[in-house]
Amino acid sequence: MKTIYKRILLKLSGESLAGEQGFGIDQQRVADYSEQIKEIVDAGVEVAVVIGGGNIFRGLKGAAQGVDRVKGDYMGMLATVINSLALSSGLDAVGQPSQVLTAVGMFPIGEQYSKWRAIEAMQQGKVAIMSCGTGNPFFTTDTGSALRGIEVGADVMLKGTRVDGIYTADPEKDPTATKFDRITYDEIYRRGLKVMDMTATIMCKENNLPIHVFNMDVKGNLRKVVSGEPCGTVVYQ
Ligand code: UDP
Repeated sequence: MKTIYKRILLKLSGESLAGEQGFGIDQQRVADYSEQIKEIVDAGVEVAVVIGGGNIFRGLKGAAQGVDRVKGDYMGMLATVINSLALSSGLDAVGQPSQVLTAVGMFPIGEQYSKWRAIEAMQQGKVAIMSCGTGNPFFTTDTGSALRGIEVGADVMLKGTRVDGIYTADPEKDPTATKFDRITYDEIYRRGLKVMDMTATIMCKENNLPIHVFNMDVKGNLRKVVSGEPCGTVVYQ
């Protein structure tokens, strides 16, 4: 299999791990993602993954219900650790080694994240699963993905979602919405499209990290994206 990317940062939302049930962790979904990831590692791609925690807890939502925002954000970060362990276990089951790295120290659950530890793991053929987002409250795992992608020198940030790319409007609400094959960061901002939070988008733009949005729930799509077959939407400078 020919690949166009050597090293990727894959962002998976917590909600995507929940599958149809909408909360918690759907083991079938974890197994499907694990197989797709193993396929591209076998093809020689170095893979880092950042997982969200929205299927378990979000600091902002907690704050709206009276939880201290900083404590709530730490709860959200812990949710990303739970999801990271679930993916790591799913990868074990398909014979793909991985290394869970935590932005906040919590050995032996994972090793403390550093750029070098992550690169070393990838070079050893392991999937580097980076949890706790940035490790700071008031950020999101989208921003964590942008940051980690830039730090480890990823060729692209792949955002695996449940829609097949970026549309002019939310395709689940507006049937007339049309999909972009390519779009610039500025156009996303100008049109107010909700692809990622603004902090993450700006970090990618300022550091020239392309974003590729695609539907991760269709088996084989991750392979398509890394082999350069048309799939999803590419965001560029
Ligand atoms: N979070 C945080 N700092 C970070 C990343 C995440 O405080 O750098 C917390 C925040 O509360 C967030 C939660 O972790 O709501 C889960 O992350 P996110 O909402 O990005 O998950 P996703 O929407 O991708 O499932």
